[in-house]
Amino acid sequence: MQPFEFTTAPDIQTAILGSSNTDARLIAGGTTLLDLMKLEVETPKRLLDIHRLPLTGISVTESGGLRIGALATNSAVAYDAQVKSKYPILAEAILAGASAQLRNMATVGGNLMQRTRCTYFRDPLWACNKRQPGTGCSAQDGHHRNHAILGTSDACFAAHPSDMAVALIALDATVEIEGAVGKRAVPIAGFHLGPGNTPEVETVVKPGELITAVELPVLTGTWRSHYLKVRDRASYEFALVSVAAMVQLEGSTIRACRLAFGGVATKPWRATSVEQLVTGQTVSSELFQKAADAAIEGAVPRRDNRFKVALLRRSVIRALETVTEGAK
Ligand code: SF4
Repeated sequence: MQPFEFTTAPDIQTAILGSSNTDARLIAGGTTLLDLMKLEVETPKRLLDIHRLPLTGISVTESGGLRIGALATNSAVAYDAQVKSKYPILAEAILAGASAQLRNMATVGGNLMQRTRCTYFRDPLWACNKRQPGTGCSAQDGHHRNHAILGTSDACFAAHPSDMAVALIALDATVEIEGAVGKRAVPIAGFHLGPGNTPEVETVVKPGELITAVELPVLTGTWRSHYLKVRDRASYEFALVSVAAMVQLEGSTIRACRLAFGGVATKPWRATSVEQLVTGQTVSSELFQKAADAAIEGAVPRRDNRFKVALLRRSVIRALETVTEGAK
């Protein structure tokens, strides 16, 4: 690890000012950044500790939604009574990720900013457009079993690793970002960026900005939800495929549907075309087969990750079967 200077931000404005320095990194739980510093993928000259800033609260908003401070830990969110009762899919997704120890340290803001697990990104000996733009993509001809099949580009096809963000995109969350000129609210669907020709730019957060909160809107009506995570082992593993599924039912008719995928895409992936396809339709295995077909439209599988096409199809069917179980 390279030497670095470590200071603590006494307030939000100091953190914002500090984050405008390209040699500096903000550190909260450190569950991604410290790993990357040990690997010398990240070599900041300065670390600005923000974990004591007053951004840990979880509170009901005036409109009845939920505001989650960016420094709330994953554990605090997953076990919050409001989250468990009103947004259970968020708790389910968080508890499917990492380990208890990591969830106790990792924060909501850090989770949104976490970097890919692509092996070549995490090893500076290999060419990687995301780590060093313009150098190439070692995963193209290398190992890419865990990589994305949706939202890929020739420059990069690394999968986004978050479980929490998949639930947040299904819940239509908004990310609050604060900078020197004030706050802005970004719908989470527009927060993460696909790789395109600039895979090194992963979110809309700019230098000199800080994520301060995530807001969940009120969910009206009765929703059934499930976060299905398929992985190589039962715990402490990233998703090969995950599906966040939410439905409102009227008898056997799907009145509303939200569907999002993880593990298969370069960013948390909202499957709006599949949602539209099933909305207003009667629950049936034929409908779910069509939904599975729609889910893989536009997929670009490669040599080692072809299995994700079939796995995504099956996962979509299973998630929809789970949330519509007993519908009649
Ligand atoms: Fe780098 Fe992306 Fe290629 Fe992985 S897939 S080596 S992160 S450019």
